[in-house]
Amino acid sequence: MDCDIAIAGGGPAGLAAACSILRAVPELRVKVLESAPEYRPQGAGVLVNLNGQNALEAIDPQLYERMKARSVEVLGGETMDKDGKNGTFREMGKMFGFNLKEKYGKSLFFLGWHEIRETLYEGLPHGVVEFGRRFASYDDLGADGVVLKFKDGSSVRTRMLVGADGYFSKVRQQMIGDGPPEFTGNIMWRARFPLRQEFSTDRTRWWRENLNQFHGRFAVIFPIDKQHVTFVANAPVEHLDRHGLPFQADTSRSVQEDVYQKDNLQRCLTVFQDFDERLLKVLRETDPSTVTEHGLYERPPDKMPDEGWCRGNVTILGDAAHAGLPNGQGLNLALEDGAVLGWHVREGGISPETLQRFNAERGPRVREVLTKALDSHQGPEKIRILYETTFRPVQGHRSEEGAAAEPQIAPGQPALARQCIVHNSFGTGVMA
Ligand SMILES: Cc1cc2nc3c(=O)[nH]c(=O)nc-3n(C[C@H](O)[C@H](O)[C@H](O)COP(=O)(O)OP(=O)(O)OC[C@H]3O[C@@H](n4cnc5c(N)ncnc54)[C@H](O)[C@@H]3O)c2cc1C
Repeated sequence: MDCDIAIAGGGPAGLAAACSILRAVPELRVKVLESAPEYRPQGAGVLVNLNGQNALEAIDPQLYERMKARSVEVLGGETMDKDGKNGTFREMGKMFGFNLKEKYGKSLFFLGWHEIRETLYEGLPHGVVEFGRRFASYDDLGADGVVLKFKDGSSVRTRMLVGADGYFSKVRQQMIGDGPPEFTGNIMWRARFPLRQEFSTDRTRWWRENLNQFHGRFAVIFPIDKQHVTFVANAPVEHLDRHGLPFQADTSRSVQEDVYQKDNLQRCLTVFQDFDERLLKVLRETDPSTVTEHGLYERPPDKMPDEGWCRGNVTILGDAAHAGLPNGQGLNLALEDGAVLGWHVREGGISPETLQRFNAERGPRVREVLTKALDSHQGPEKIRILYETTFRPVQGHRSEEGAAAEPQIAPGQPALARQCIVHNSFGTGVMA
């Protein structure tokens, strides 16, 4: 075996799963096989909600603190119409009818997507992530493990495969074969830029074509750390058609890979030309090479596969399993998946039964979040589902039910990589 667990895809889900498994069972040999040649600043920003924070804390309290230290707290939000008029401001502390920090000891934070990925990456021993490994297919050989095959003809043999390869997951295509997620008919643009005076970090600013509804065109600008701001804009595809701008829904590539094109910014400006001049000024001054454009796709929660997201020695998680709309839960659910997988590997070792137990726990939870927790009619129940969620800690803890099962290492298997030098932001050390 080349490793004990191979994770295809080094986005937030794959990295969180690797961090979690290695804290739960440090002697396992885990590989994250990422198609990109390297990590470079990409994406915009993400809201790290209380459920995501609880998951991170369960994975590793230090990792959580490190993430928080880079972030910026969400203080409030201003919503206005597309002309920048009729704005209303709501303080975060008053949005839910109670003070979040007082009640839960935590508040929401924003962080750049790249910084989230970077922090998780830095939390892994050197060499766990391998770049330039584009997964193509696998053979599940039962008791003999799984063989992953890559586009360049190379292969990796492992005991368990975790597919964390995003929206258009190749692992899912082979395992479930239910086709790509559905195109929602909406296009999204994203970019990040240095903080400016006019967009201080004290609030999120929303411009909405339909002030009371979340459809049609909207744009939002929010801080992602103390030095950067990000903008995200959404428009139904007919707005591109109206201006004679073509858009081809392409499910063959991962979500934001290769979506930098030189005219993205111009296309966005054309679609939003009748919006508030303050927003347009920012867009005009944005570096066009940083602007991404991509379609939005979804796997509706009522169409989740009955058999779950695992078969034999293989499972999927993150967007590969439950691609949703950019409603703030994509990242948070990915962190939850990672935290829960680590716990199950610790408890049950590497086996198909462990994956089944992991899936049995995640299916109902994901469905609940993607339906009830995002439904504004649910009121206090929505808040409870997201905010009162706790996770069983993976680091330095054992289950309440008893001693953790030892990871099942087959006799004669090569010695595990027991000592990895860790060079990360916590310092340099040895991970045994
Ligand atoms: C570049 C990028 C930028 C993003 N920016 C934002 C953002 O600003 N705000 C936001 O809310 N969401 C963003 N997202 C989406 C967000 O990351 C996900 O919704 C969520 O975090 C779930 O993460 P994931 O790891 O499951 O999926 P992803 O984040 O999509 O990660 C999947 C990973 O798998 C890799 N991969 C894909 N195919 C293969 C393959 N065949 N072999 C090996 N590796 C493969 C991809 O390169 C990627 O690193 C972004 C995604 C990407 C890829």
